[in-house]
Amino acid sequence: MSGMSTLEETIRQKAKELLEKGEVTAVIGWGGGWNPAKATPQFARDADGAEKLVFNPFCYNNLAVYLPRMKDSKVAIFAKPCEAGSIVALLAEGKISRDNVYIIGIACQGIVDPVKLEKEAGSIDEATAAYLEGDTIVIEGEGGAKRVRFTKVAMDACASCEQKGTSFADEMVGDTAKPVTTEVSFEVPEDADWAWWREFWAKEFDRCIRCYACRESCPVCYCRDNCAVQSLRERWTGSQVNPMEALMFHAQRAMHVAGRCIECGACERACPVDIPLTLLHKQVGGAVRKLFNFEVGDKADERPPLETFQKEEL
Ligand code: SF4
Ligand code: SF4
Ligand code: SF4
Repeated sequence: MSGMSTLEETIRQKAKELLEKGEVTAVIGWGGGWNPAKATPQFARDADGAEKLVFNPFCYNNLAVYLPRMKDSKVAIFAKPCEAGSIVALLAEGKISRDNVYIIGIACQGIVDPVKLEKEAGSIDEATAAYLEGDTIVIEGEGGAKRVRFTKVAMDACASCEQKGTSFADEMVGDTAKPVTTEVSFEVPEDADWAWWREFWAKEFDRCIRCYACRESCPVCYCRDNCAVQSLRERWTGSQVNPMEALMFHAQRAMHVAGRCIECGACERACPVDIPLTLLHKQVGGAVRKLFNFEVGDKADERPPLETFQKEEL
């Protein structure tokens, strides 16, 4: 059965302490969503707010996305290692100040991808309870309980997660992290060449409706109203919804986040038409990693390579 875990108790207590002592103005964490299988971001500003914090395998949002918008007052944030990596990336770019963020790292045991979950278990819209029981995710609803192996529905990103980033945390909560096993949702064919990729992405981007949910959910897409795709001064990308303009948007975004993307998959989970965006960011980010020997989230005092142009690189 579901119920409040010891970790949840610790999280609520920790948030209350920080707020009561006046050390932070808000604590960013997760709260129960409208659906028990979809936790939602929760901003606790007092003891009542702290009581609503949860932590479970359904906490899939990357909370670091809120930090640049809250950078002028001191806040605390609960951070899985993938969030922590994004926080380090934001520190490295000077978008947030280390003095204004208190990081409480959570040793992560892996998180459920809601898209994979719905593929395995069908619609979870009517779920009345959702929890992990041993190695099984249980979704209860009016028609009974659906059970799915956790490894079938864990986020793809968890498979290659090295649980780094929390070394920057001010403190840690939770048990020691374990390596996560997951069945990745898509295997790239071994003989995939340039023509294969061109066809693959053309087909995927054909479905893009330019809603920008991917951009809004991404911790390193913080340009907001100054985003190049909306610029009225220079028209880098047209605003029509068609495959060519979608390709331009995604190529531009992929280059902008290359060497800054932690591959958390938040963009992909936000996409209403399930475009496998992490695959694109892994590819472009992988090239930057190789070319510049640079790992995102490793150093808070080293700017990402594509932000630091050197004449010798020409
Ligand atoms: S990638 Fe997965 S295992 Fe790693 S920190 Fe994020 S949610 Fe946890
Ligand atoms: S581009 Fe996507 S995968 Fe990369 S950091 Fe942003 S949300 Fe995460
Ligand atoms: S979230 Fe999906 S549909 Fe919306 S702009 Fe991004 S890729 Fe396109």
